[in-house]
Amino acid sequence: MLLFKRIQDIENHLKGLKRMGLSIGFVPTMGALHQGHLSLLKNAQKRTKITVCSIFINPTQFNDPADFDKYPVTIEKDIEQLLENGCDILFLPSVKEMYPGGFENKTRIDFGFLAQTLEGEHRPGHFDGMAQIVEKLLRVVKPDMLFMGLKDYQQQLIVGELIRKRRLPVALVPLPTLREKDGLAMSSRNVRLDKVARRTSLGLSKVLAGVKQEIIKSRKTSKTQVEMLDAIQRKALTKLSNMKGVEVEYLQIRNANTLALPQKKTEKLVALVAAKVGGVRLIDNVLV
Ligand code: AMP
Repeated sequence: MLLFKRIQDIENHLKGLKRMGLSIGFVPTMGALHQGHLSLLKNAQKRTKITVCSIFINPTQFNDPADFDKYPVTIEKDIEQLLENGCDILFLPSVKEMYPGGFENKTRIDFGFLAQTLEGEHRPGHFDGMAQIVEKLLRVVKPDMLFMGLKDYQQQLIVGELIRKRRLPVALVPLPTLREKDGLAMSSRNVRLDKVARRTSLGLSKVLAGVKQEIIKSRKTSKTQVEMLDAIQRKALTKLSNMKGVEVEYLQIRNANTLALPQKKTEKLVALVAAKVGGVRLIDNVLV
């Protein structure tokens, strides 16, 4: 595996590979790698010749400075895992390399409702910072395919919009959420859960699984979709809010493509949740 820290160097190297006609698959991450990240890498390896992974903890997407300070850093272990899993290239830039002129976002994209709701509402500025760095990374790596997890559901929708709005020549490949055996969605933040919080955190995936079952059941009845989903959502929210040690930020059932409130019985839905458990902010979702 080759490791690059400078934009110029990785660009030069990738230019050579592209000239040889090799396709590039890209997996951007913030490190503290787990099997979820590695599943993206493995998928990239199946679909493209050269796999590039980046590790960059992007300061501009952290609305909460304490969250940024506590974000786990395990760079040596990350490199080991990437080596073991056959990653071809690691891009590991510094903050200065990615933001030479400071953090100001001069070409901010307005994603409208998609970035204002849910995570956008609870983490102001998060998606601006995320889109800013993903665009920079895409312009450096220029991949043919970009691999992202459905775990960050709203994020991958916004990146899809970013690609369309900027007309970037890359195909976005969203991939399923990898879970621990008991159902907890894998996340770099999970290492911060203590024993009690780890047990409590199961509530999120359990409640989402229940919501999915109820939506499936409700589709067979004659009541209107809006009425039923509202009841399902309210019941699930109460259940989660009543769990000791869980501080719910939102639990919502939305249209899976637009995140708008559901209207029709036939539309594809996603149930999304964000909650703090033992002081650690977790998100999860399920498609129905
Ligand atoms: P992060 O390092 O948390 O920014 O995540 C980097 C990429 O890995 C993003 O595309 C995430 O959606 C994806 N990812 C994170 N957790 C999982 C998971 N449990 N399963 C699949 N993909 C994931």
